[in-house]
Amino acid sequence: MQSFVYDALPARVVFGSGTIAQLRSEVERLDVNQVLVLSTPGRGEAQAREIAGILGELSVGVYPGAVMHTPVAATEQALQVVKDQNADAIVAVGGGSTIGLGKAIALRTNLPQLVIPTTYAGSEMTPILGETKDGVKTTQRTLKVLPEVTIYDVDLTLSLPAAIAATSGMNAMAHAVEALYAQDRNPVISLMAEEGIRSLAGALPRITEAPQDHMARSDALYGAWLCGTCLGAVGMALHHKLCHVLGGAFNLPHAETHTIVLPHAVAYNAPAVPDAMGRIARAMGAADAAQGLFELAKRLGAKQALRDIGMPEEGIEQAVKATLAAPYWNPRPLDEAALRHLLTRVWNGDPPLA
Ligand code: NAD
Repeated sequence: MQSFVYDALPARVVFGSGTIAQLRSEVERLDVNQVLVLSTPGRGEAQAREIAGILGELSVGVYPGAVMHTPVAATEQALQVVKDQNADAIVAVGGGSTIGLGKAIALRTNLPQLVIPTTYAGSEMTPILGETKDGVKTTQRTLKVLPEVTIYDVDLTLSLPAAIAATSGMNAMAHAVEALYAQDRNPVISLMAEEGIRSLAGALPRITEAPQDHMARSDALYGAWLCGTCLGAVGMALHHKLCHVLGGAFNLPHAETHTIVLPHAVAYNAPAVPDAMGRIARAMGAADAAQGLFELAKRLGAKQALRDIGMPEEGIEQAVKATLAAPYWNPRPLDEAALRHLLTRVWNGDPPLA
């Protein structure tokens, strides 16, 4: 066996159906009593108000101001509310956008965070915070932003529209896929990665066919937890680098961007990491990892071209330059011409190169 370092992160995870009933006792366990509940506006806010209702006198209110890609300006507004309400803890209910806001607050205040994820993005399991300022997204890794407790309640994910569940699930799979060929990969995380891919690849088509299939939703959330753990534990590569550049520069929707790029990044890396490709394909029950991911996204009805989610064609060149400007480890060295070719195919929605 190859030598490795396994650095496990602390995590308290409450998983199941109806687990929201344990929210009060989990908050009490943190020894806090002035909780601010965060969410995105609209539907997320209604859910946050229900959560605040469960907390009763332990909550100082709801702040529904979370925005995708965690703009610093939005965090500054939220910090003012934290100060005005004298909050002593954060409960974030929602997807990666809401969890990102909670982490950005925790970074600046050290407040404890209890997170209730309702998508599969996986941010709750990572010490990573990505923030956007002036169109540039920067990422940092610090244990200060790692949530203290995560409550996964399958029931709260049933309202996630099947189309969002599909791309959010593919976003989660991307973490596990890249964990399998990470520079600092280790056998424990690789086991989680394979199980995470297997669980999501099995669950997502069932959710697309029957959005209220409780077992499928449960399998997907379980897979998302595993994939999020992979993202938190080991470094990523080309796929995450590309999505990070594209999301920050063109404000593209996070999960859809991941879904579109993933098969192509995998095809690019395939010759360098045949073992990882074998494990991804095996977990998906596919003959080939990249083609299997492309076919899965198609079966889920997801968009497959960057041109269809708002990226301008001129952006291809900008993305090539930005990707090469900040070096990032990848199992296959980055080549400018190959990268341009890859991004052109991704923009067009062509299948990944065999
Ligand atoms: P999101 O949080 O923006 O949620 C997507 C949409 O789904 C929103 O409109 C939201 O209101 C809606 N939604 C969420 N849960 C719902 C539910 N149960 N029912 C109905 N609608 C629901 O998107 P996301 O993909 O979860 O997260 C993306 C963000 O998270 C990006 O900013 C990304 O950078 C960040 N992220 C960070 C990490 C990390 O480790 N730091 C990991 C993954 C993602």
